[in-house]
Amino acid sequence: MSENREIVTIIGSGPAAWTAAIYAARANLRPLVLEGEPSRGMIPGGQLMTTTEVENYPGFPQGITGPELMMNLKLQAERFGTRVVSEDVARVELGQHPFRLILGSDEEVESLALVVATGARANWLGIPNEERLALIGGGVSACAVCDGALPFYRERVLAVVGGGDTAMEESLYLTKFARKVYIIHRRAELRASRIMADRALNHPKIEVLWNTRAIEVLGYDAITGLRLEDTVTLEQRDLEVGGLFIAIGHTPNTAFLERQLDLTPHGYIRTPSPWRTATSVPGVFAAGDVMDDYYRQAVTAAATGCMATLEAERWLSHRGLSESPLPETAEAPVTL
Ligand code: NAP
Repeated sequence: MSENREIVTIIGSGPAAWTAAIYAARANLRPLVLEGEPSRGMIPGGQLMTTTEVENYPGFPQGITGPELMMNLKLQAERFGTRVVSEDVARVELGQHPFRLILGSDEEVESLALVVATGARANWLGIPNEERLALIGGGVSACAVCDGALPFYRERVLAVVGGGDTAMEESLYLTKFARKVYIIHRRAELRASRIMADRALNHPKIEVLWNTRAIEVLGYDAITGLRLEDTVTLEQRDLEVGGLFIAIGHTPNTAFLERQLDLTPHGYIRTPSPWRTATSVPGVFAAGDVMDDYYRQAVTAAATGCMATLEAERWLSHRGLSESPLPETAEAPVTL
């Protein structure tokens, strides 16, 4: 870290962060990426590190594994001079400029511009075998759009846990490939919006198991079933399934921001202008799942990483903090 005063610092290590770094490095902004510290349950690389095959990221006709894709993106960013530090950011001070970042080791970094791309994490049930099978590609996933089309899940009986819009959407999506989809919901009433709930409830391939919770995933190399418990009678039974999708919400990784940036009611970073990554603090930009609870795809995260760096570059240039050949456009004046 040169004198600990950076031009652009990128926090995160998923597709949004590495893409932001590739663009910043190629623009001679000498970016620093704070990729986070490996710890229990969190590894640098984001959610794709727990995905096996990625078949919907453009440019890989045969697919690519999540960890391989992340490694390639990181190598591409490093090839252009990105510096990477494997530390967590404990907190930030955005009320001053340059911004101040306090790392887990107590070391401090000052930065003229900041791209926050810390992602979100899928919530898991925390039941036996769930995360182990998810990690080895054994038929447990937290993203139907990412994994549902894989051959593994085709023509199988699948289960989706959750009663919100995500669970409805994922169940409907899975009906394209599955023989049958069980929605497992812990109450007798769905949380999902009426329209989404009706679509799911009226689908011939979907059956809801009400007042039911999954208490164990069965199977060693791959899922074979679920142990279920009735939340009213506490009666237990086993259900044979060939795949499990957990859809009980996501938690954006924004705790370290400590009210320094405007967040949405669900904790995502608010980006006030449509199609922009600028946040409530000028000079701070957000990219990827930490600001997007709607698309949540690797390719959209990468795209917003590119957008965040281009916006940062323009912002720096218009404040005389760096040289940038990027002109503002008539439709998109730069906010100072
Ligand atoms: P959500 O609305 O918070 O729903 C989470 C669901 O998971 C709830 O039904 C909850 O049960 C259940 N759940 C939570 N923890 C659980 C646990 N430990 N065990 C069992 N079940 C558990 O989350 P979401 O569905 O991801 O939606 C998040 C936001 O995105 C919402 O505002 C939603 O409307 C929006 N969204 C919109 C669309 C769309 O419009 N197309 C699609 C997806 C998401 P309880 O109901 O019992 O609490």
